[in-house]
Amino acid sequence: MPSPTVRRFSEPRSGEVARTRRRDRFLCDAMLGHLARWLRAAGYDTELAPPRAGDRTLLDSARREGRILLTCDRTIPGDGGRVRHLPMAELSELARILREDLGIDWLRAPFSRCLLDNAELEQVADPATAGIPAPARHLPGPFTRCPRCGRLFWPGSHVRRMRERLASWYRGTRKAARRPS
Ligand SMILES: [Zn+2]
Repeated sequence: MPSPTVRRFSEPRSGEVARTRRRDRFLCDAMLGHLARWLRAAGYDTELAPPRAGDRTLLDSARREGRILLTCDRTIPGDGGRVRHLPMAELSELARILREDLGIDWLRAPFSRCLLDNAELEQVADPATAGIPAPARHLPGPFTRCPRCGRLFWPGSHVRRMRERLASWYRGTRKAARRPS
């Protein structure tokens, strides 16, 4: 029984569904907001469930939108592989698990989505008129804008640090994946 709240965060995005493969789309439960942000940073279509969404609501949303539900709640049933239970662990450990178990490529399409609302970012033609701060305009780009919330992104130090972390997860988890288990 979908609630109006669910309807709001599960609205179809123009063109997204057609462009994204089914197993590349995720729904994080509200406890995994941090992970959702990093999956978006890596370029994965990742929605975040609203706080206190019930099990049925989460499963219905995941099914309807063709998403894998990522959750730390062991009481939620597996639902034929649609649910991936995660341990309560540090982010780097979750990153390793997702790479090894779900084949997450942490360098898939870095910073192609808004970290806050998951929308696909659009290239900004002219950084100056778009409102990119003057000190950042000399950067090599890309300069992007979120069509939903209007936020601007540029490859400043924060983005560079995040990219380095994504790269370390990509490298580290590849190494880990080759280790005999
Ligand atoms: Zn946005």
